[in-house]
Amino acid sequence: MALYVQKFGGTSVGDPDRIREVADHVARCRKRGDEVVLVVSAMGKETDELIRLAEQVSRATPGREMDMLITGGERKACALVSMALHDKGIESASFTGSQAGFLTDTTHRNAKILELNPYRIREALAAGRVPVVGGSQGVSADNDVTFFGRGGSDTTAVALAHALGADACELYTDVPGVFTTDPRVVADARKMDRISFDELLEMTATGCPKPAMRSVELARSRGVTLHVRSAFSWVPGTWVTEEASMERAIISAVTHDTSEAKMTVSGVSDRPGVAAQLFRTLADAEVNVDMIVQNVSEEGRTDISFTLPHEQISRADDAVAAIVDELGSDAVIADDDIARVSLIGAGMKSNPGVAATMFETLSDNGINIEMISTSAIRISCVVRQAQAEAAVAALHAAFQLEKAPEDRTDI
Ligand code: ADP
Ligand code: ASP
Ligand code: MG
Repeated sequence: MALYVQKFGGTSVGDPDRIREVADHVARCRKRGDEVVLVVSAMGKETDELIRLAEQVSRATPGREMDMLITGGERKACALVSMALHDKGIESASFTGSQAGFLTDTTHRNAKILELNPYRIREALAAGRVPVVGGSQGVSADNDVTFFGRGGSDTTAVALAHALGADACELYTDVPGVFTTDPRVVADARKMDRISFDELLEMTATGCPKPAMRSVELARSRGVTLHVRSAFSWVPGTWVTEEASMERAIISAVTHDTSEAKMTVSGVSDRPGVAAQLFRTLADAEVNVDMIVQNVSEEGRTDISFTLPHEQISRADDAVAAIVDELGSDAVIADDDIARVSLIGAGMKSNPGVAATMFETLSDNGINIEMISTSAIRISCVVRQAQAEAAVAALHAAFQLEKAPEDRTDI
């Protein structure tokens, strides 16, 4: 008998039929002799709708009340799933994050788990019930309801899998696993049977929404086996493993991210300490700077560009405005029409041609590269946002990602 923590995303519990299918799925697992703990997201797009509603009602949207509001979505879904199980003759009980034992810090909208004591979940399992836990939520030391942030239900599932010593954490979603790129963008994107934690972390850090990055970090640090799979079929999905890709692919995936903007501080003095002052000021203003490029200096002046999340532009603008004179800058320009396209693969470490092929492919498709950054297993390029999907498709084809790794010809 194995124990599985199974998390169902929004689409997978999106309507009454889908909820009944989750109950059927659990019935089959139980018949097989397995024990199941369920974690559910809010139905469909309910989280987005609740946030929109709050923004129509309030300008301030205070964190404490937002968390109370948003977590209601998951609470509703877990009660409904539990009722559907009951109808199938399966004993079940729903639990809020707090009832499931999630103690968090007090950072509303982005709470971190401090402790997890799932004794009520263990009791329910011992009594033969299927616990259904509302995802992405807990209770703070101040006894307030807290929300883990977007995609937090994946983190709830991984944390429970670890605390309960589950055999695997299964993340059920609306696609059959982790793909070589977003299947909505490239029709022949290929489902990967396995991916390493290293590669998946780079993917989730550069725009792949599934699974949420925090949950992948947690799974890795706690040694939780992750299986990303389809809620609509029994086909095995993608196993996330510690070792490098068993398939020995040079390149595993292409991702894209349109959530960042580019800011350029132009004409700054080219002298020691300028970059330090700029980025210290941004750090103090809690701006998350990512890629940085400094242009060749001309006549003692240079341009510094960096990327940052869209929603931090005005904060960054204010912070930089306060020091433009000291920096000697003549203009600060924010550009939110950019996208970052990234190539990810553990095999690129030992294959020197990858960057060249990436840049040639973009150039052959008339796509200009505005910034470049690399890690040992990733190359990212900033391009115009309107060209992002074309760039993804071209790179996916150039690296033959639609083929199984053993069928790809040398690049
Ligand atoms: P859930 O609500 O189940 O947690 P999300 O909607 O957050 O799931 O993420 C699933 C979506 O992520 C899929 O519908 C898919 O279009 C998109 N996606 C983007 N890139 C990838 C990728 N490389 N592999 C799998 N899915 C991806
Ligand atoms: N429903 C929340 C969201 O959409 C939490 C989650 O599903 O992980 O972000
Ligand atoms: Mg989601």
